[in-house]
Amino acid sequence: MNQSQITTIDAGMAQGFRLSTGSTLRIINTMGSQVVGTWAFARSSMTEFMSMEHSRIHSSSSRPQIGTVFHTNLHEPILELCEDRSPGVHDWYLAACNQQRYELLGHQGEHANCADNLRAALGELGHSPTCVPCPLNLFENVSFLFGDSMEIKQPVAMPGDYVGLKALIDCLVVLSSCPQDILPTNGPDLTPRSVDVEIVQPAG
Ligand SMILES: [Zn+2]
Repeated sequence: MNQSQITTIDAGMAQGFRLSTGSTLRIINTMGSQVVGTWAFARSSMTEFMSMEHSRIHSSSSRPQIGTVFHTNLHEPILELCEDRSPGVHDWYLAACNQQRYELLGHQGEHANCADNLRAALGELGHSPTCVPCPLNLFENVSFLFGDSMEIKQPVAMPGDYVGLKALIDCLVVLSSCPQDILPTNGPDLTPRSVDVEIVQPAG
């Protein structure tokens, strides 16, 4: 494959990408501590989008791993986790953070959040989401204890770890450097950080 572009997403910000079938988005956790909210929409219709609940139906694993194929709300394959140079700890259960989430955590006033990041990034591409689907939360360390309780822990990724998501159809992908700074989602120092992204085109 040929590397073609590198983009830095600033801490707490988001970026949208137009992907063609066969190209791969490589998300690099530059500092190792950053969670990246990830969405995908079919370019043919914004009403068709990557759905974690539909994807889990097609998986035999409790968490995404190399080879996991993510499906849309119409059960069509849209992205594949084609490479993972990290400990393989990712979440596909938790909703995107939004303004209400931060208010419930005690924050007063506006707070950057992944849901608004999604809307803004799609807006820059000339689109708007019909809803905010549950994201694929790359590098998020959600620990399930004794089968009935859960805890958000600091990421276990190391600086430079990365994952690759291959487009199985033409799609729009949005990546959000999660702005969470109240819980240890992005590390014990509660500090969101930037991530790097490469678009890798198939050879030939
Ligand atoms: Zn977030």
